Amino acid sequence: MEIIQDLSLEEMEDLVQSLGQPKYRAKQLFENIYLGKKIEEITNISKDMKQVLQERFIDEPIKIHTVQTDTDGTQKFAYQLFDGNIIEGVLMKYKYGNTLCVSTQVGCGMGCKFCASSLNGLVRNLSAGEILSQVLVVNRMLGGTAKDRQITNIVLMGSGEPLDNYDNVVKFLQLVTSPNGINVSARNISLSTCGIVPNIKKLCTLGLPIILTISLHAPNDEIRKQTMPIANKYTIKQIIDASREYFEATGRRVVFEYALIKGVNDSTNCARELAKVVRGFPTHVNLIPLNEVEERGLKTVNRKDAEIFKDELEKLGVSVTIRRTIGENIDGACGQLRNKILKEEDKKEE
Ligand code: SAH
Repeated sequence: MEIIQDLSLEEMEDLVQSLGQPKYRAKQLFENIYLGKKIEEITNISKDMKQVLQERFIDEPIKIHTVQTDTDGTQKFAYQLFDGNIIEGVLMKYKYGNTLCVSTQVGCGMGCKFCASSLNGLVRNLSAGEILSQVLVVNRMLGGTAKDRQITNIVLMGSGEPLDNYDNVVKFLQLVTSPNGINVSARNISLSTCGIVPNIKKLCTLGLPIILTISLHAPNDEIRKQTMPIANKYTIKQIIDASREYFEATGRRVVFEYALIKGVNDSTNCARELAKVVRGFPTHVNLIPLNEVEERGLKTVNRKDAEIFKDELEKLGVSVTIRRTIGENIDGACGQLRNKILKEEDKKEE
């Protein structure tokens, strides 16, 4: 079975024409799909066409499995995929709009020592349509349409490494920014990567001015290797060079994520070393006090130590913020909710 949300408007035009229908029908179909509808719910297509579509395509690639709402309004979703796999997403409500955090893979193969998503390794890649459907189902849940979108910003910061699923992620970016569809502005989309250098370079040629976010988490390769296996493949220097190239290609400043882990990367020396690494072109550092993951054993820093680290960076001319921790009460960290559901399912089976 195929996923209809994987198709661009042009591909849908080919599809309807191959079914003996006029080309303009594709637009109707496309609009219905972007309303987050199941094929079953579409009313303005012929019965025959609907039957063919239902035989060929999965009716509901993603459905919302559970929603948890925090006191600050943040909502955390677990979605169920058509094959039973669970992925997750977070909706953050800000004054300027709603940001949805989407997953790009089931699990993750990168093996970062602080992260819950990679505890069970990579299960599979998500298709472009499966990534898109996360946006469509939540937009629908919020009462949004393609014209009146309730999701204004997207961050590719859920489970998975987007640049390890490059082709599908790029197709997703093209679909979600398509003026015929939900038309989210590329400028409002952030892609976060642990630093797969050749694919960062490929992103430079896309012509989509999305925000590139790099999960740096260390000021030098030695410390980075302690928590991030990808550091054995690409050096910080290679990552910074590719980031600079990205800035030159898109004009967008690059954001570096730095999770503060007690006794690992939180010293004043680390701050000084980090300042040297990220200076020289427009960048921004986002400090995140580590969200402790039970299975991982790493400890977070307190607010005061985070402030000291921030002040040191600021003193050295770095643009830096400490990320507001939102959704803390609802297993907000990467992979935590999925893990909880998987554990509960294990218990049921015992
Ligand atoms: N694989 C991509 C996308 C994941 S995005 C990447 O590595 O960037 C999720 C962000 O949250 C990344 O910056 C990741 O390093 C960070 N993260 C993962 N687990 C975390 C934790 N326990 N506490 C704080 N940040 C975490």
